[in-house]
Amino acid sequence: MSILDETPIGWNKKSATVFQCPICSEQMHLKISTSKSLICSKGHCFDISKHGYVNLLPHAGKTKYNKQLFSSRKILSKNGLFDPLIQQLSSIINEAPSLNGFIKMLDAGCGEGSHLSHLYRELSTIGGQIVLGVGMDISKEGIYMASKDYPQLLWCVGDIANCPFQSKQFDVIFNILSPSNYSEFQRLLSGKGMIIKVIPNGDYLKELRQLFFAQTDKQAYTNNKTLELFRDKLDLVAVQDLQYTRTLDQVLIHHLVNMTPLSWTAEETKRQKTLALNSLEITIDLRILMGKKKSG
Ligand SMILES: [Zn+2]
Repeated sequence: MSILDETPIGWNKKSATVFQCPICSEQMHLKISTSKSLICSKGHCFDISKHGYVNLLPHAGKTKYNKQLFSSRKILSKNGLFDPLIQQLSSIINEAPSLNGFIKMLDAGCGEGSHLSHLYRELSTIGGQIVLGVGMDISKEGIYMASKDYPQLLWCVGDIANCPFQSKQFDVIFNILSPSNYSEFQRLLSGKGMIIKVIPNGDYLKELRQLFFAQTDKQAYTNNKTLELFRDKLDLVAVQDLQYTRTLDQVLIHHLVNMTPLSWTAEETKRQKTLALNSLEITIDLRILMGKKKSG
């Protein structure tokens, strides 16, 4: 038996204890009858779907991120668009002295789950780390897709302002190109834990901005405010920048246009012109912020 067979990955009694009831905040336990569910001591019960995700959102969530956006993002991920990012994030974990042995990690705002599952693969198979991975998103569509494709991880629909997890559960919280809730992140972080937030830099998808918004105020982008807020809420430990380019063919351009919220405000003629291109070089320009709980 390999060491991975003995670890609490997937839904089981041990991994279920990271969750807390989104209604009354009591700890959740795994209940196994004809199917699996999470139940709290007051009897609030949430079924785990046959694909292995649980919906812990008391009310339906609103998001503009739909199935088409998520499937396009998944296809771009499978085609390696984010591979350098995943490798860099894995190195950060593998090289962090406090993150050895068994790591519990959360991807807050995981969407369709590609980033978390690729990180999980890198860390557990290549880095030799033992990992419990939990992905949360407000979009049921995203979580459904994630659970279908990556059953070895735990997936839940949840609200970032009221995260359905017990306090101090996670050694790493990833927050990749997604909104934050710093008070919840601080609550969820273990003592040695680290928050790793990925934000766009000024040149992120600059070619698409140029095509969509040339000579308008939407063309420029700055992440100063996001960085300031992160520094204000957490101890900023390190910052790394990552920039690379990829050339996309027409099919992948189509998925890029589907994937990015930039398309929501672009003029239809400019969108169509972009979709008609045979190839497009795009820049991925990201900043990785690493933070710990504020001391004192
Ligand atoms: Zn409850």
